[in-house]
Amino acid sequence: TRSTRPQRLLRAVQKKAIKGDPQSVISTIDYFCRHSEWAMNVGDEKGAILDSVVCEVSPSTALELGTYCGYSTVRIARLLPPGTKLITLEFNPDYAAVARQIIEYSGLQDKICLVEGASGDLIPKMQELFGIKTFDFVFLDHWKDRYLPDIKLLEECQLLRKGSILLADNVICPGTPDYLEYVRNSPLYESKYFKSHLEYTKVEDGLEKSVFLG
Ligand code: SAM
Ligand code: MG
Repeated sequence: TRSTRPQRLLRAVQKKAIKGDPQSVISTIDYFCRHSEWAMNVGDEKGAILDSVVCEVSPSTALELGTYCGYSTVRIARLLPPGTKLITLEFNPDYAAVARQIIEYSGLQDKICLVEGASGDLIPKMQELFGIKTFDFVFLDHWKDRYLPDIKLLEECQLLRKGSILLADNVICPGTPDYLEYVRNSPLYESKYFKSHLEYTKVEDGLEKSVFLG
């Protein structure tokens, strides 16, 4: 049977990236997606904004919603302070299998915990499964109609504290209008847009950074 795009992306990494070098894994994926096949990674341009937010927050607890091939997972984990683990959730087992191999290849497996399942089921279990009280940083990049219900779930489960940072990808393209309207108007958040472009294209897209005020 024909290979899938994530499998081809993995093969490019195995062939061209330096094992144990996260930056080389990231650059190899970006090159593959610019020159061979577009894929829904946050990409290099928005990735630079993601990097700067992760460095600024320097989180002790971090959650990613939507792993796909593990591109942003590797990107975030390489910048985490020693001892911090990134929990990343992915409900597609084929994508999760590829992501595990990309994470291993990058050498960051000790900093990452990939959990297979749906965010709506797993968010309420974060305390029980990982002893998490609150997240310092959450990267939202799963299906766009889940951003709003899932931050409401994070609020309900008391997984946000005063000062927790939410960073949401693709708020313009494909777009998350209900989420944007909520974080921009709710007194619970202070929110700011970072203008950029959809991964590997010139189409406008951006990241929304929202501070939970509690
Ligand atoms: N963050 C990745 C990156 O930048 O490299 C890209 C993630 S991709 C845009 C979105 C992923 O979220 C897909 O792999 C999809 O299967 C997964 N996903 C969508 N809804 C989900 C949910 N409710 N729970 C867990 N995973 C979900
Ligand atoms: Mg995205």
